[in-house]
Amino acid sequence: MTANPDDLPREKFAHPDVTAKGEARASVDFRRLETLWINTGTLCNIECAHCYIHSGPTEDRLAYITREEAARYLDEIDELGLGAVEIAFTGGEPFMNPDMCAMAEDALHRGHEVLILTNAMQPMMRPRVREGLLDLKSRFGQRLRLRISIDHHLEETHDRERGTGSYARTIAGLRWLAAHAFPLSIAARTAWGEAEEVMRAGFSSLFQKLGLNLDAHDPASLILFPEMDEAADVPEITTACWNILHVDPAQVMCATSRMVVKRKGAQEPSVIACTLLPDDPKFDFGPRLCDALGRVKLNHRHCATFCVLGGGSCTA
Ligand code: SF4
Repeated sequence: MTANPDDLPREKFAHPDVTAKGEARASVDFRRLETLWINTGTLCNIECAHCYIHSGPTEDRLAYITREEAARYLDEIDELGLGAVEIAFTGGEPFMNPDMCAMAEDALHRGHEVLILTNAMQPMMRPRVREGLLDLKSRFGQRLRLRISIDHHLEETHDRERGTGSYARTIAGLRWLAAHAFPLSIAARTAWGEAEEVMRAGFSSLFQKLGLNLDAHDPASLILFPEMDEAADVPEITTACWNILHVDPAQVMCATSRMVVKRKGAQEPSVIACTLLPDDPKFDFGPRLCDALGRVKLNHRHCATFCVLGGGSCTA
């Protein structure tokens, strides 16, 4: 392990097809579209100590995508005959984007499932947004789901990552969503050196205290994300790794999902391989979804730490 990303060996994750040791690099074939992520922009109302996508109150390198731009991808899903999929929104904080509810409405209207990732804080709790969410719920019911980020079940630990007072505001938003029976899940982190069972037991107590009908032992209700240490000297993933590690490439996120991002100043959005790599041009397929449904070479350290060795998936 190293402490500084600049100290990492540069020969690793360099060649698209071959690792630094000369072995064949692993790749993932695209199977089918299950989830199209739409990044709503990197602006966020808070600044976490370790944000994987480097969002924040002044961070706009990924701009707000508009309703019209998002709708073009819904059109393309129809044109390609991909059927009903999950349209998932992530940021930044998606409810900072003024078109968030309208984009969700468009996706739901066309028969897709919608998932919105949020910290459930002030942007979501504005009256106009709450009205929008209630309207969508009344029209589309259980097809609209929200995933709330609670880094740790304890207030002190969560606030150390997200800022003083953030836990209380997130819990208030969570209570509001639960009171209106929105389908919910929780996303937490595993950065605390605690065993998974300890984390799940802690969240189970929290859910009980809040009266939430959520099973903390169900990986789809409480998603515990592996950490992405950008300073870790991780092994490269070769074609032999699938068998050695007993990992099925069909279960890796980029086999079934893509993400749309709108870079600041760009003429149009781009489709990228996954939610984890918005800034690496090697994983950018260009503006059209139809050009983005091919093989992905696992040529980034996140492929190793998060997906193959960590077993993580944003779509759990
Ligand atoms: S980081 Fe992205 S591109 Fe790499 S394996 Fe994971 S999903 Fe695929």
